Parts: sequence; C-alpha cells; structure tokens
Amino acid sequence: MSTDREKTCATCGRSFAWRAKWAREWDAVRHCSERCRRSRPSEVDARIEALLLELVDARGAGKTICPSEVARALRPDEWREWMERVRQAARRLVTRGELAIYQGGHVVDPDHARGALRIGRPPHRPLVEHALTPKGRHASRSE
Ligand SMILES: [Zn+2]
Repeated sequence: MSTDREKTCATCGRSFAWRAKWAREWDAVRHCSERCRRSRPSEVDARIEALLLELVDARGAGKTICPSEVARALRPDEWREWMERVRQAARRLVTRGELAIYQGGHVVDPDHARGALRIGRPPHRPLVEHALTPKGRHASRSE
C-alpha cells in the first residue's frame, strides 16, 4: 500500500511525483523515467555504493569526502565520466539514511543540491531503524 504522492527513484535517487499515467500502477512504480527504468543499478553501482561508504568511514567520524574521490578510486583514467553514477549512488544511500549530502557544512536536499557537494554520514545516526531520514518522508522505504 502506498498513498504517498511522491517517491524516490530507485536509479537516480531523485524524488518524483505521482502522475495520472501511473494511476493504476503507482504502487509498483520505482523509477522516475523510462531512462532510469532501463538503467537500473547494476553490480558496478553496488560497488560504487560500497566504495562511498568505505571512503566516508575511512575519512573519520563527522568528516566528508568529495564524490570525485570515489570516481577516481573507481576509474582513475576516466573518472569524470563516472561522476554522475557516483552522485546517483550517493542519492540512493541518502534515501536509505546511510549518507547525507552537505554544502557549506549543512545537510542539503539532494534534489536541489547544485555545484560542488560533499558526502558524509548523516549528522545524527538514527537510534531506531525506521527513524525519519533527513528529508523526513521516506521512513517506510528503508527495507
Ligand atoms: Zn530517476
């Protein structure tokens, strides 16, 4: 059952709103677009997610990394082409409450973050597994 009028895309991690064309299948809709549906996360994307968490934790508590560090670690020669994949992986991890995106030292909404951003653990690790994410509306999506 899903009465939410907004969901988070399983590929790009951006939120998207209900549309009339999805009226009969809204519960099953997981992607914001046909493009995202066709490029759903693969094993490489799972590796990117793992690498993000690894590098963030290696940096230390309360510290952040630049997404380019992950892209460079993954593909030193063509890291620029991998930046969007890294950002998408970061947004998916934000949805799961594992990471937060920072600008100027503050948590920002990944949908609206523009320009240089930093990635770190959320400022307050939830004590309860289903606690609200920083965006406060994906509590039911953590499993
Ligand atoms: Zn998408």
